Amino acid sequence: MKLWIERDKEPTDGSGTNSNGPDHRWRDHTRHVFGVVRRTAVMRIEFDRDTCIGMFQCVAEWDGFERDETAGKAILVDGEETDDDTFVCEIPESEEIDAKFAARVCPVDAITVYDDDGEQLIP
Ligand code: SF4
Repeated sequence: MKLWIERDKEPTDGSGTNSNGPDHRWRDHTRHVFGVVRRTAVMRIEFDRDTCIGMFQCVAEWDGFERDETAGKAILVDGEETDDDTFVCEIPESEEIDAKFAARVCPVDAITVYDDDGEQLIP
């Protein structure tokens, strides 16, 4: 219901404004509403860079990992360092299968995947 109220305020004269201000405001709100309704939690991946021995199987399985040839370690591309050499990021829904394969092929279990509820899936 709230969504329709917001949409009714969409400007029709191309001015980019409505009674609530710039029209990008209601668009952001709409996307936010859809995002919350569609999905409230996402799968997450944790990468222990200290444990990584640079075999790069993970890179072959998922674009979320890249090679760091100089260090002989993988890089979790969108990873945020939460602890010394521990990086985490959310896994886009469309990439969950590839990310799980990346974790499964790691010979030293440097990659951990958690489901939407925070339960450890792999290894
Ligand atoms: S598969 Fe494991 S050991 Fe090999 S680069 Fe990836 S994280 Fe490192």
